[in-house]
Amino acid sequence: MFSVREVVTSRGTLQYREEHLTGLRCRISPDRLKRQIDQTLYLPSNAGGCPFCRDAVFSVTPTFPEGNRIIRGESVTFPNLFPFGEGHVVTVITREHAVMAFSRKQIVDALLAQVDALRQADGYASINWNFLPSAGASLVHPHMQGLSDSCPSPIVDCYFSASEQFRREQGRNYWDAVIEAEKSSDRYLFGDEMLWSAHAVPIGEREVRGLLPISTIDEMENYVDLAARGILEIISLYRKLGTFAFNMSMFFDKTGCNHGFRAFCSMISRINPNPSSTSDSAFMERLHLEPVILTLPEDLGKFYKKERN
Ligand SMILES: [Zn+2]
Repeated sequence: MFSVREVVTSRGTLQYREEHLTGLRCRISPDRLKRQIDQTLYLPSNAGGCPFCRDAVFSVTPTFPEGNRIIRGESVTFPNLFPFGEGHVVTVITREHAVMAFSRKQIVDALLAQVDALRQADGYASINWNFLPSAGASLVHPHMQGLSDSCPSPIVDCYFSASEQFRREQGRNYWDAVIEAEKSSDRYLFGDEMLWSAHAVPIGEREVRGLLPISTIDEMENYVDLAARGILEIISLYRKLGTFAFNMSMFFDKTGCNHGFRAFCSMISRINPNPSSTSDSAFMERLHLEPVILTLPEDLGKFYKKERN
């Protein structure tokens, strides 16, 4: 499913990895972990002026055309005031402004609200989450963002055409083949119906993917609980490794389309928010589009299994 080219240098071994299906590439340099650039978690404590806190959320955020917001449990969902998608919705996950430990109900309610809002938009849907400012969140108050566009984003488009080509050439579904390979690899983490494993060619640090047996947002409702459990397990794995910030995206095909695609949830860990603004994204990630990764996916799988036992 992927290739590895190893280059031995006088200061450690480098890996160049490429995913055959998509051509996506990364470099893995485990020795760079020794630099220990990890930052101690720093959070500004001031919640003043937050538009997602309860005293503001019902007055400063927009409503859907019918004049409503979606309320589910603690979560509140509404259109983004500054959209970058044709359908762009925000779900404030919690009543509390700064939350470090989420309950399953909080995640389930937020995901169900996103599914509810995105089903109505009828495009290529994704559910996304930037957690903490170093992961791109402009507000500390935890919130998910749903996107629905008439064109899929490039990575999704790439998986669509590659999945279709694989089905045409091999006569079977690509994602079944991935599940089969991942199950017996060192990258496997947990789960069966929704299988979670460290992605073989990570596009971000410690990328983990949860593979769903469905393809569209219309089918998601029954899998929300399973997805929430998995997301919480990965957050807990990242915490054991000292990182609090992360990005999450869950990708779906459009209802009525059949690209031979399966929906999946991808999560990557990000550097902790820190006073010196040290970043984990540099020219390789932003301009070359070939991320430099420190953790070998197989090492992440082994770490998870060791911690669990
Ligand atoms: Zn707030």
